[in-house]
Amino acid sequence: MELRIQHLSKQYSNGVQALNDISLTIPAGMFGLLGPNGAGKSTLMRTLATLQDADSGTAHLDAIDIRTHKDDIRRLLGYLPQDFGLYPKVSAYDLLEHFALLKGIDNRKERKEVVEALLHQTNLYNVKNKHVGGFSGGMRQRFGIAQALIGNPKLIIVDEPTAGLDPEERVRFHNLLSDIGNDKIVILSTHIVEDVADLCNNMAVINKGQVILKGQPLPLIDSI
Ligand code: ADP
Ligand code: ADP
Repeated sequence: MELRIQHLSKQYSNGVQALNDISLTIPAGMFGLLGPNGAGKSTLMRTLATLQDADSGTAHLDAIDIRTHKDDIRRLLGYLPQDFGLYPKVSAYDLLEHFALLKGIDNRKERKEVVEALLHQTNLYNVKNKHVGGFSGGMRQRFGIAQALIGNPKLIIVDEPTAGLDPEERVRFHNLLSDIGNDKIVILSTHIVEDVADLCNNMAVINKGQVILKGQPLPLIDSI
């Protein structure tokens, strides 16, 4: 499996050139997209998640064009946006079950199995009946991963998931991500070098909407 991004460009209506001719080939495994605030990471992530269109360029997941086959991409996609809203007075269990229903898991027994497995995987089983509004930052992000993993997606996009986490929560989150499996494409957008150094097989650095470095983390990070 491979995600091939070719010449993506996007200018917002205020004149900001958020993406400026981005080309990247992303293989299965964990890919780090590193860049400072304002680099264009979220714009690229939203584009790949089919939530907005670029002005020009293409991206394909294997043979699937993300612009013309959005529904096909969405079936294969798990997305954790940078600022995701949570319904505060719903329990973690009920909210995950709701998302599983939205993902088309219609069978009640299967849905229960999926939700319980994800709650275990993200270490949230013991708080499954608590309202998500009371969750700490780390719990929220783990919940976000549980949500993103519903339906066994092949392309997983997580946008700045560790921003604001304390060191202990960051380690827990790293462990969770590293368990996801190398048969999927996981794109981790972050401004934190350690996230990429600890987790990723491949990486790119973007700045001002352009790819300025790409390759494998260890030699690249040593050279920064
Ligand atoms: P587009 O060019 O894709 O139509 P717009 O400029 O119309 O995008 O903005 C879309 C949304 O993003 C609006 O709700 C706007 O308030 C918000 N927005 C505008 N500027 C920024 C910014 N610098 N960063 C984040 N969001 C912004
Ligand atoms: P990052 O995720 O790396 O911080 P973004 O993709 O959010 O980068 O932003 C890239 C640039 O585009 C920034 O200059 C930002 O202010 C601008 N921007 C982001 N979203 C919008 C929007 N909806 N409308 C206008 N400008 C935007």
